[in-house]
Parts: sequence; C-alpha cells; structure tokens
Amino acid sequence: MYNSSNISINEQGHLVFAGQDTVELAKQYGTPAYIMDEERIRERCRIYRSAMEEHFGEGSIPLFASKALSVKRIYEIMAEEGMGIDIVSSGELYTALKAGFDLSKAYFHGNNKTDFDIKYGIENGIGHFVCDNADELRAINEIAGANRIKQHILLRITPGIDPHTLAAINTGKVDSKFGAAIETGQADELVALALSLENIALDGYHCHIGSQIFEYEPFVDAATIMLTFMRDMKVKYGFEAQIMNLGGGMGVKYVNSDPEINYASNIAGIATLCKKICRDLGLNQPKFLLEPGRSIVADSGITLYTVGGVKEIPGFKNYVSIDGGMPDNPRYALYQSRYDAVVANKASLPADYECTLAGRCCESGDLIGEGMMLCKPVRGDTVAVFVTGAYNYAMASHYNRIPKAPIVMVNKNGSYIAVKRETFEDLCKNEI
Ligand SMILES: *Cc1c(COP(=O)(O)O)cnc(C)c1O
Repeated sequence: MYNSSNISINEQGHLVFAGQDTVELAKQYGTPAYIMDEERIRERCRIYRSAMEEHFGEGSIPLFASKALSVKRIYEIMAEEGMGIDIVSSGELYTALKAGFDLSKAYFHGNNKTDFDIKYGIENGIGHFVCDNADELRAINEIAGANRIKQHILLRITPGIDPHTLAAINTGKVDSKFGAAIETGQADELVALALSLENIALDGYHCHIGSQIFEYEPFVDAATIMLTFMRDMKVKYGFEAQIMNLGGGMGVKYVNSDPEINYASNIAGIATLCKKICRDLGLNQPKFLLEPGRSIVADSGITLYTVGGVKEIPGFKNYVSIDGGMPDNPRYALYQSRYDAVVANKASLPADYECTLAGRCCESGDLIGEGMMLCKPVRGDTVAVFVTGAYNYAMASHYNRIPKAPIVMVNKNGSYIAVKRETFEDLCKNEI
C-alpha cells in the first residue's frame, strides 16, 4: 500500500487518511468523493515559503499553479499561507476573486490570452501577465493604454532543455506552443518589443521546463540558461530583470517506487547555484519565483469509490469496476499515469489480487490502473486511490453525464465539504 505520513490503518482494519476513517467518510459523504488533507496542503506551502525565503532571500516566493486544483477553498488557503498564485484563464481568475484572493499576487499565464482575458485581468488588478508572444504583448500594451495603466509583465522564455520527463508534459523545448525560444532569437526580439512599448513594464522572465521532475539539476540547467539570457539582455539593452520565475514541475511520489522528494533541500540546491551563477555573471540577484502545482496538492488527496462488479476473464485479467473513473480522474486515459489503491475496509488484509481497476464509463480506456494489487474486493467495498489531489478535480468532466464528485476537506477537527457533489439539476442548468 502507498505509504505516507498521513496514511495509516486502524483497529477495524480501515484505511485512515489524515486522522479520519475513510470507510466512515465514504458512508457520510457518498462515493465517489475526493478527500483532501488540509494540514498537508498547508504544510507544503510552508515548506516552499520558508525554504525560498531562507535560500533565495526576501521577496522570493512560491506561486501555487492553480491549474492543478482551482476551487475557492484552495485560494483561501493559499491566501492564508501567504502564497502567490499562477492562473491560466479568466475562470481561474474569477474563482480566485470570489475567494477574496489579492490579485496583485497573481500571475496570468497561458499561450493564448484573449482580449477578454487581458481586459478582465487588467480591470481586476492582476499583478503580472506572463506574456507568451509578440501579438499578445501588443494587445496587452493596447488594453493597458486604454485603461491608463502601465501593466507589469514577465516574458515566457523557452530555454530549450529536456528535463528527462514525459514528452506530453515537456514544455521547455524549442519546439513548443509556449513562449519564445532563446535559440531562435525570438526571445531577444520579444524583450526589445516589450522595452519599446509605452504601457508595458517588463519585470523579468519566466520559464517552465516540464512536470514530474525529481532531480534539481534540470532546474539549475534552466536557471543557467535563463540567467545567461538575462545577462545578455542587460549588456544589449541595459535592462536588468528584477524577477526570475523558474516555473513549476517538482515531482511527486505517486507510487512507492517513485523517489520521495525533499522539497526544501531541492530548493536549497537550486538557490545556492542560482546565487553563484548571478555572482559569476555580475548580475544583481533578481527575486526568484517557483510555481509548484502538483507538489502542493497531489499527495494531499485521495479518491474514494465503491466497488461494483468483480469480473474474472479466464486466461486474461480480473476487472474491478468502481463508481467513478475518467470523469473524476482522466489521467490514466491521458498519460497512463500510475496510481496505487487499497480496499479501504480491508486495508490490513494482504493485497494479493491482481486486477485492472476500471471506471464506469462507456470507453475501454476508462481505467484507473492496470496490474494493480488489491485485497480481492466484493461489491459494496470501498476503494481508495492515492495521490489524486492534483489534476483530478481540475480535469474532471461530465462524460456519460456523471455529476462531479465533491471535495471533502479533512483536518484535525474533522471533515467538511469544500465543494458539493453536483446534482442532476446541475447537469441541465444551462439547457433550454
Ligand atoms: C503546469 C504548470 C505549472 C505547475 O506544474 P506542476 O508540475 O503541477 O508543478 C507551473 N507553471 C506553469 C507555467 C505550468 O504550465
């Protein structure tokens, strides 16, 4: 079974998550349900914040990459923990606004901000746009001018490195829909354009090299390229960046065979080398930002399901069907992501039954995982899938007209609903 400090088994042999009996949670809130450990989320924010302040210095803060999980309650927690945020759409901006998040600490990302997005961001006092391309830069300049402000921005730069990770989530290579590459000269041109525009205040640069990166070296490689670029722009245009945003992507242990990451020591390692590179290049040290998404919320979440049929196909596989699947967790269908699971009401029994954990949708690819080891379940058992806090609810759909599952937060005092389960009426609410 997946091991983590917030997971244990009680005397009844039930899985306990963040101090709460998951079988009881399943009874109380129904299934499928996302369960999230509020203390773990807060603890991760604090690790990032204190390590960044200690090693990079004051003003260097983590921004929660809220595409990993964008709901009001998360933005409230981020505000309380002193985090900045990164958002990628007006919908995320709206959600943050509804949660009372101070948008001066928000960075608006994305490779295609519409005119509406730019207006909406500016009217609501967005701190920075992370500008992707020249067309967008001109549009921001124009809309900022119409609003009589000088808009602060970073430029999204493609450092052209491969962080040795999955190609599908590998965004820092030259051939990418994101940003402007240094190698092709387009990054340089974008700096020149930004510096020439009247209503633009260029504060620095951003890069994001990918996701599920377990070592810190790829971040240092990216930082070396980015800081060298910063030096070149200083020499060429006399512009010295104030902010260097190295993006997100620190890995998460999804299954026990993945490495356990010490985020604080990774940050310390990156910071030490960044400071040295700045000294070597004769740069004043900019403020550094990081944008963790997954590593803040992924292992703070589990999903509870109820088992339906158990089907054994002689000579082939065993299928265990659950009452959720790709509508609440499309990551196996998208990336063949690995997950670990347990029968929550039989957590102390041996997991000796190899099976495919299948969702309920009319789609063969709707699986949570193959070759999973569970204690042989029967209809009505509760299954818990681990490490589902990131990119699960955020990617949830209504496929097969299945209402979205609720998010239940647990903490020392008990549990509460952060997001209600959708109703059938919710499914039809926009239909005339
Ligand atoms: C996806 C993304 C992140 C977060 O990545 P994680 O792997 O969740 O940490 C941060 N910044 C940008 C620009 C992204 O696209």
